[in-house]
Amino acid sequence: MKLVLIGPPGSGKGTQALKLKERYGIPHLSSGDILRAQVAAGTEFGKKIKVYMDRGEIGPAELITEVILHHLAETCPDGFILDGFPRTLYQAEKLGASHSVDAALFIDVSEPEIASRITGRRTCKSCGAIYHMKTKPSRAEGLCDACGGALFHRADDNEETVLNRIRVYKTETRPVLDFYRGSGLLRTINGEREAEEIFADIVELLG
Ligand code: AMP
Repeated sequence: MKLVLIGPPGSGKGTQALKLKERYGIPHLSSGDILRAQVAAGTEFGKKIKVYMDRGEIGPAELITEVILHHLAETCPDGFILDGFPRTLYQAEKLGASHSVDAALFIDVSEPEIASRITGRRTCKSCGAIYHMKTKPSRAEGLCDACGGALFHRADDNEETVLNRIRVYKTETRPVLDFYRGSGLLRTINGEREAEEIFADIVELLG
């Protein structure tokens, strides 16, 4: 199965991707995680994109697309859940040129909800599990319930950057919805509910 998850920042794409991975055994590929790993490793590419990531912007389109598609070809060419990619029409077209996507799942969440979700978000360094300081705290502060890994607050999960990420989402990523709608692959899911309910909808949609 080749799935694409689309939604504004904080819509729960990462949470749903992990659930899908667990249920169907399909590899999960988060473009944000791949880029953050490059930044953490201090590669030339990482240094170049850090500036954009800190601002919540989309960096050099061709370079990023090449890196993500290369990663995809290396790690999971036969089936994947893509989270955060494609983020622009250019990326959707490039992905479509090498892979036939089975479904694009759009997790729909309104703007006011996004900001509060993102600023309280905490992510596990080891397994990627996602928590929220108020709505989904971990049992032991700062530690992941699932694997005991350290939780961190993403540098770009702050109010100022969030506004920019929402703006970028509206201008750059919304056309991707039209792209998949046009080819009959778009499935819209109400993302303003409990993660379990959203997941049940997705499972039903996938049949
Ligand atoms: P995310 O973890 O998906 O919220 O992504 C965090 C940041 O990484 C974004 O704000 C962008 O700066 C960058 N990023 C992630 N995915 C992409 C992509 N497909 N194209 C360009 N930039 C991306």
